[in-house]
Amino acid sequence: GGATSTVLATKQLTKNFGGLTAVDGVDFSVEEGEIRCLIGPNGAGKSTLLELITGQLSPSEGDIYFDGTDLTEMDTHDRIDTGISVKFQSPHVYENLSVEENLRVPLQRTDRDTGRVLAETLDRTALAAKREEPASDLSHGEKQRLEIGMAVTLDPTLMLLDEPVAGMSVDETADIASLIRSLHDDGMTFLVVEHDMDFVRRISDRVTVLNQGEIFREGPIEEIEADEDVRRIYLGE
Ligand code: ADP
Ligand code: MG
Repeated sequence: GGATSTVLATKQLTKNFGGLTAVDGVDFSVEEGEIRCLIGPNGAGKSTLLELITGQLSPSEGDIYFDGTDLTEMDTHDRIDTGISVKFQSPHVYENLSVEENLRVPLQRTDRDTGRVLAETLDRTALAAKREEPASDLSHGEKQRLEIGMAVTLDPTLMLLDEPVAGMSVDETADIASLIRSLHDDGMTFLVVEHDMDFVRRISDRVTVLNQGEIFREGPIEEIEADEDVRRIYLGE
């Protein structure tokens, strides 16, 4: 295979909430061009790890590198400008704005060609027919697609998605999987937190399992699914 390059790396990353260590000395990396899935039981620290990467939270200890640059002291907006976009666990769309107006919000921060990017993003997220509708009229699945679209307008190097198919129907889940695959085909790198193993199998080759704030396993999806210790932590035995 060709040489890979590391897009994201964490070094001994740690987050304490009072006496609780949510992320505990994590050394983790994502390679350019991959779709990495991060799985693990509830409370494993997945969302906390994502929020440390975006700068929503600051670490108790450790460092985060993106394209070789130390992000640890950088605020969230500067991290977005360096090429990290995120869709958090629950949708954050502006309910009273139209689909198109929502997509224009992140574009205000850039000098990208708004007309072209809007047309591309509406097409890609299959929301063109709804461009003038208020976001409040969208289904849960459409809101999730809209929020991914908002992140996509910034053309990030790395896209972080926290549970993008939670609460979705089978059809909505398939739409999100094909949206991710198509963005990946165009060169975008992903780190996706997800529980739904059918979905994980569809989009990801390599999976990282987090448990009690630590990396528990990492490997190809087939290996992870067959791993009895992974099954055990999910069952909470
Ligand atoms: P996951 O996303 O894997 O379900 P989280 O990262 O949300 O897990 O949470 C990891 C642990 O940290 C949990 O025990 C959770 O209760 C705790 N936690 C998360 N955020 C906070 C917070 N802001 N304050 C206190 N505890 C928190
Ligand atoms: Mg979470």
